[in-house]
Amino acid sequence: MSLLQVRGLQAFYGASQALFGVDLEIAEGELVALMGRNGMGKTTTVRAITRMLRTTRGEIRFDGKDLAPLPSFQAARLGIGLAPEGRRCFASLTVSENLMASARPGAWSLETATGLFPRLGERMSQRAATLSGGEQQMLAIARALMTNPRLLILDEATEGLAPVVRQEIWAAIARLKQGGQSILVIDKAFSELRAVADRCVILARGESVWTGTPAQLTRNIETEFLGV
Ligand code: ATP
Repeated sequence: MSLLQVRGLQAFYGASQALFGVDLEIAEGELVALMGRNGMGKTTTVRAITRMLRTTRGEIRFDGKDLAPLPSFQAARLGIGLAPEGRRCFASLTVSENLMASARPGAWSLETATGLFPRLGERMSQRAATLSGGEQQMLAIARALMTNPRLLILDEATEGLAPVVRQEIWAAIARLKQGGQSILVIDKAFSELRAVADRCVILARGESVWTGTPAQLTRNIETEFLGV
C-alpha cells in the first residue's frame, strides 16, 4: 500500500478551479519529485494534501486514511510535515524556539536536526528573522522534521538560494532519503531533482500528465512539459 495516494484530485479557489485531476502516489521510503512549469498546480497540490486548502474533490489517502474531512492540524498529526514555499518560520522566535514549537516525539530532536544542519546548531539563540535565506530554509526543513513526519514535503526546496547553500540542501535531502525518509519535493532545479528522485510526476494545467523514473524522463518530455 502507498503511504500517500492521491487520485483524481480537483481543487478550487472560490469559483476558480486550479486542479483538474492530479494522480500521485508515494511509497514508504520513496522520494518523488513533483515537477511542472510555473502556475501548473504544484503548490495547490501540496495545499490540498496538507488540507490547508480544503475545497477539493477526489481521493487523498495517507496510510490508507481519508484526509478529505480533516483540518490541516490533523493531517499534520497523522505524519505529514511541510516546509512550505516561502519558508514561514516564526521570525521573532529564536532558532531553538522555532524547532521546539513543532517538536513531537520521535527520532528527530534538536540534536539530530542540528546534526543534519550544523549551521543551525551554531545559531540556536539567534532570532529567525536575522538568519540568511539559506539558514531560514534549513530551519524550515528542520522544523518539519521536528514533527517526526512519515512524509516530508518540501515546496521550492532551494528557491532563491545561493548555489553553495543549494548544494548543502540537496546533500541534506540525499541524506534524508538514505535514512529511509519518504519525501515529496518541488523545485525548479531539474537536474538536482533528477539526481535524487526515485520517481517524477509532472503537472500541466492542473493535471498530472506524466510519471516515471528520472531515467525515463526524456528530452522530449522535458521540452513539452517543463520548458527545458
Ligand atoms: P509556481 O511554480 O509558480 O509556484 P505552481 O505550479 O505551484 O506554480 P500553483 O501556485 O499551485 O502553481 O497555482 C496553480 C493555479 O492556481 C494558478 O493558475 C494560480 O494562479 C492559481 N492560484 C494559486 N493560488 C491561488 C489563490 N490563492 N487564489 C486563486 N488562485 C490561485
